[in-house]
Order: sequence, then structure tokens, then C-alpha cells
Amino acid sequence: SDGDDGIAVQTFTLEQEQELRVETPARGEIKLKLVDGTAEVFGAEIAVGQSITCVSGRKLAVFTYHGATIEVRGEVEIAYVAGETPMVSYANTHSVLNAKRVAAASENSSEAEGPRVMCVGPTDVGKSTVCSILCNYATRAGHAPLYVDLDLGQGAVTVPGTICAAPIDAQIDLEEGIPLEMPLVYFYGDLTVNNPDYYKHIVSRLGTMLDERSKANEEARAAGCVVNTMGWIDGVGLELLLHAREALKIDHVLVIGQERLFGQLQQKLKGTDCQVFRLQKSGGVVERTPEYRRASRDRMFKEYFYGATGELAPASQTAYFSKISIYRIGGGPRAPTSALPIGQAPSTDPMRVTPVVPSTSLLHSVLAVSHGKTQGDLLTSNVAGFIYITEVNMMQKSFTYLSPCPGELPSNVLLSGNLKWLGEDVK
Ligand code: ATP
Repeated sequence: SDGDDGIAVQTFTLEQEQELRVETPARGEIKLKLVDGTAEVFGAEIAVGQSITCVSGRKLAVFTYHGATIEVRGEVEIAYVAGETPMVSYANTHSVLNAKRVAAASENSSEAEGPRVMCVGPTDVGKSTVCSILCNYATRAGHAPLYVDLDLGQGAVTVPGTICAAPIDAQIDLEEGIPLEMPLVYFYGDLTVNNPDYYKHIVSRLGTMLDERSKANEEARAAGCVVNTMGWIDGVGLELLLHAREALKIDHVLVIGQERLFGQLQQKLKGTDCQVFRLQKSGGVVERTPEYRRASRDRMFKEYFYGATGELAPASQTAYFSKISIYRIGGGPRAPTSALPIGQAPSTDPMRVTPVVPSTSLLHSVLAVSHGKTQGDLLTSNVAGFIYITEVNMMQKSFTYLSPCPGELPSNVLLSGNLKWLGEDVK
């Protein structure tokens, strides 16, 4: 039916353990309201009367354990009720993990660790969703786990091309996503791993920080972490997963929706103290096209600079080449084979840090502002944030950039990779 304002309104009644799956059209916005009963979105409870705005392209499920009435306002791409969901098995998984948190928190031994969980599986099986559900359930049980995102292409925390960790101390806001206050971010600089050595290096750094955090903070140690990974599970991809498993001292691997990977990991992790579980993929997970992925990456960049709801007004600032240093990790382009002595294979040092000479090719680049002070620090330092180059002026030897924070950059050491964002229609 249509509401008073002419906007389409549909009401759905859910029985216990059913979910309403909704897709917002690519252009448009809808509002979901819990009219009656109890319900949650990916583990985050909604209150009766609470209305959630879903922006273009968003896909989600409103699940109820006990029954609910949901009102949907606006034109939807699709909206239907599903009775078969893996939510109860996800809740059981949470119970197993939480028992470990409770034990770690109550034991006198300062050694006891909470669960370190890693979700793995091919693309589009709902890994990020399961991570959100587990984090939300943990916060509802009074723990604040660390959300770790190792997915370069479709990460949920900050801009693409990074790996990061953020403590989740309240259920994830359904409109604003994971809070960005204190994320620990390492810059990889690309959307896919073509320099596995450097990727492993930053994952190991993150692992060291995790251990330090556990040592320094008992609550953090008991809460543990939930790690989201890339959908690359063959060959080098599998090797990277196994490396991350070890570097982050993961003790629970959750394999979503792929029996083959489950078998492989069981074999590879035999004899370790890591347990491998298999979780069912939800029938609601929507496959995303390359265009959709590109659009959602663009949205991540836009949200970083302009805020989730456009509330930030990023300052446009100018920097002179003489005042900043830009570096790149991985040795830059390989020498063409023709330039090498016969028989010698082109090679680059994957961990080489090279200065970048500023040029117009920086235009539209997203650069990281490193906490590293010197060229030597860069490999081990996390980053403070990002800037977006909107103009390069070779005459003046300067560039103009956007930064979400006004004022001077926290450092004049910048890291460059292959991240470009064509911020057209950014407003
Ligand atoms: P990636 O390949 O990017 O790593 P993934 O495996 O992490 O993907 P998700 O991002 O969790 O997958 O899920 C894919 C999409 O499906 C998301 O847009 C998510 O909101 C949606 N989705 C997940 N579960 C459901 C559900 N039960 N009902 C409706 N939509 C869902």
C-alpha cells in the first residue's frame, strides 16, 4: 500500500526464526521499522519503533528469534521472508566462542586467551556478515572483540587496499558501520595481493600488535578477535590464509560454504591446537557483480573523506613537494627483460622502499600518511590516515589534496601504492 506521503509501504509478519531479506535498488533509499516483536540485523538488535535507513544497493536481512512485524517504506529491489537460515548455528558458534571468553576472563592465570577466530571461504559466502554477527553477539554478551579485516578489496573498516583492526565495544551501527575512532591500519596499497611477501609482512605486524594488546589489557585478551579474510582460497591465496592463521595465532577457523577448503584446512592444521569448523552459507547472501564491488569500493573512499552520511566537509589543502616525502614499497616497476643481461630474470626486492618523484601521475591517487618517521620505519609502521590528490601543479611544485581532518598532516611521510579513486560526483 501507499503511505500518506505516497511512498510505498509494505508490512511483513515474521514467525520465529524467520528473516526478511531486503535489497535496496541501486539508486534509492528505503526505511525499515520494527513495529512489533524482537529483531536484529546481522546480530545488531533493533528496538521497537526504531527505523533504519538503507542506502542504495544495500542488502540485508532482519532476523527474529521470537517473531516480529516489520514495515518497509520505499521501493525495494526485492523483499521476501525466508524460513530457512543458518542463524541458529551461528548463535551456537557464538556460544562456543563466548564460553572461551568467559573462561579466559575468570581464570586467574594471566595466560588465558579468549578465542581468536578467522572466517574463511570463497567470495560471496557471507564471511563479512558472519564476522559482524559474531562481533555483535560478543558485545551483547559484554565483551569487546577486535574486528580484524584482512580483505583488501571489500574491507569493511576503512579505505580499500589496507588491512586493519578495530575494537568493537558496542553493536555495529546499522547505518554508520564499524566505528572509525581507533582503527589500527596498515597500508598495502592495492586491491589484490601481487606482493605476497609484503602482505605477509604487514599481517605479521598486525599479529605482533594483537599480542601486545593482549598483554597490556586483560579484557581485550579475554574478548579475542574475529578476523575477516579475502575470498582468494587457492594456491598463493591458501598460503596467505595459512600464514595469517599462524601470524595471528588463530585457534578457531570457520570455513563457510566450501567442503573442499574445509577438508584442505583440516588436513593442513592437523596436529595444531587450531580447530576447524564448517558453517553453512546463508541462502540470503547475494552474489555481487564486479560493477557492484567497484561501486562499493568507491563508496568506501567517499565515506572516508565525506563521512557515512556526508557529514564531513573535507578540507582542500596544498602541499609543496619540497615539504613532503613519498615512498612506495616493492621496488616499483620491473626492469624490462630486454634491458637485462641475457639469461637474467627480472627481479625486484619485494620489501624495497623507494622514493617516488612527484609527477602528474599522482592525480586521483589515495596516499597513506605514515606514522613512520624515516624511510627505514616505513615497513613496520601503521598509518594515521589517507589523503586524496585532487590536483598536481608541476609549475608550482605542489599538489592539492583532500583530508578528512583539517590542519596540518600528522606526518610528511606519505606512502603511495596503486590506489586510484575517480571521485567524480563525490558530493
Ligand atoms: P567477499 O567476497 O566480499 O569477501 P563475503 O563472503 O564477505 O564477500 P558478505 O559481504 O558477508 O560476503 O555478503 C555478501 C552480501 O550479501 C552483502 O551485501 C550482505 O549484506 C548480503 N547478505 C548476507 N547475508 C544476507 C542475508 N541473510 N539476507 C540478505 N542479504 C544478505
